[in-house]
Amino acid sequence: MAHIGIVGAGLAGAGAAYALRDTDHDVTLVEKSRGVGGRAATRRKHGCRYDHGANYVKDGDDRTVELIRELGADGLVDVEEPVWTFGRDGEIEPSDRQESHKFTWEAGITQFAKRLLAATDAEVRTTVRAASVARDADTGTWTVTDTDGDDHGPFDRLLLTPPAPQTAALLAATAWDGDGGTLGALREAVEAVEFRTIRTLVLHYDFAVDVPWYAVVDVDKEHDVGWLAREECKDGHVPDGESLLVVQMGPEWSLAHYDDPLDEAAATVAGKAADLVGDDRLADPDWADDQGWRYALPDTGLDPSAGAVEAAREAGLHLAGDWVAGEGRAHRALWSGVEAGERIDGSL
Ligand SMILES: Cc1cc2nc3c(=O)[nH]c(=O)nc-3n(C[C@H](O)[C@H](O)[C@H](O)COP(=O)(O)OP(=O)(O)OC[C@H]3O[C@@H](n4cnc5c(N)ncnc54)[C@H](O)[C@@H]3O)c2cc1C
Repeated sequence: MAHIGIVGAGLAGAGAAYALRDTDHDVTLVEKSRGVGGRAATRRKHGCRYDHGANYVKDGDDRTVELIRELGADGLVDVEEPVWTFGRDGEIEPSDRQESHKFTWEAGITQFAKRLLAATDAEVRTTVRAASVARDADTGTWTVTDTDGDDHGPFDRLLLTPPAPQTAALLAATAWDGDGGTLGALREAVEAVEFRTIRTLVLHYDFAVDVPWYAVVDVDKEHDVGWLAREECKDGHVPDGESLLVVQMGPEWSLAHYDDPLDEAAATVAGKAADLVGDDRLADPDWADDQGWRYALPDTGLDPSAGAVEAAREAGLHLAGDWVAGEGRAHRALWSGVEAGERIDGSL
C-alpha cells in the first residue's frame, strides 16, 4: 500500500482523492482551513447561506454534469435565471451568450468537495497549514511539516494544490537533496503564474429585488464592480422576501480597498450596486459580510512544457489546481486534480 499526501482540500485536492478512491493507496489531505472546498466556499449567517467564492459550477463538459449527478441529485440546484451583462457605461442588458447549467447545492457549493471526499476513505486533516516539505534522499519519500512543527507522512507521492503563489512559497521551503536543479526550475515555473485579487462584498436586504436576471457581469472589465449576483435565485440560500447580493469587485478596486474596514467598503459597494441596478434602496443593506481573495483567479497557467514539472513527477512531487489547468474555473480545478490522482496511481 502506497501513502499519498495531498496539500489542500479544494476541488483539485478532493478530485485527486476521488480519483484514488478505488485503489488500495492510503490518502491523507492536509488543509489549512476548518472546512473543505477552498475557493468553492459557502458561509451561513442570519438564516442565509451564500457562496462567496465560486458562484456555481458551470457544465463545462459532459463529464462534469455526469459526475455531479453521480454524487447525488438531492439538494442539487441549477440556477434558472440568466446572467446578463454590463459594460463601462454600467448599462445592464441581456446577454447573447448561450446559457449553461449553473450548479450549486441547497447546502452550498462546498457540497461539491464534501461529496467527492465522502465517496473516499481519505483522511482529511483540517486546520493544518503546511509550512515546508522535505524529500528523504534515501527512501525517496516526502514529508510535510506544518506551522505547529508537526510532521505528516512520509508519503510515496505528494500532490500540492494551493494557488500558485502559495505553492511557490512551499517550494521555497522545500528541502530536496540532489534535485539536479529541478526544484529551482519548478519554483520559477510556478512563480510565473499570475493571480488576480478579488474582494467579495455580501449585502443583505429585508426586501426582494425584482429583476429578471440572476447575475450581471462586467464585459469590458473597466467597471469597479466585476460581478453582481442574487443569491436568492439559489433554492435554500435566502428566505423568501429577502435579497442577498454577492458583489465581486474588479481587481483594481479590490487591491486598492483590500484592507478597508468592512462597514466602509460595504457602504461604498452598496452605493455602486444601487447605481448599477438602478434601485436606490440597495444603497442601504441591513447587514454585510465580506471575503478578501488575495489569490482569486489565475490570469495565466503553468507552462506545460516546463521540463521541471515532469522531472518533479518522476521524483514523486505533483501539482494540480485551476492554475495548472490554466483557467480559474471550478470544473477545471476538479479535473486537474482527478488527472493528477490518475497519474499518481499510474506511477505506483
Ligand atoms: C470570487 C471568486 C469567484 C469565482 N467564481 C467562479 C464561478 O462562478 N465558477 C467557477 O467555475 N469558478 C469560479 N471561481 C474559481 C474557482 O473557485 C476555482 O477555480 C477553484 O475553486 C479552484 O480550486 P483549487 O482546488 O484549484 O484551489 P483552491 O480552491 O484554492 O484549493 C486550494 C486549497 O489549499 C488550501 N491551502 C493553501 N495553502 C495551504 C497550506 N500551506 N497548507 C494547507 N492547505 C493549504 C486552501 O485553503 C484551499 O482549500 C471563482 C473564484 C473566486 C475566488
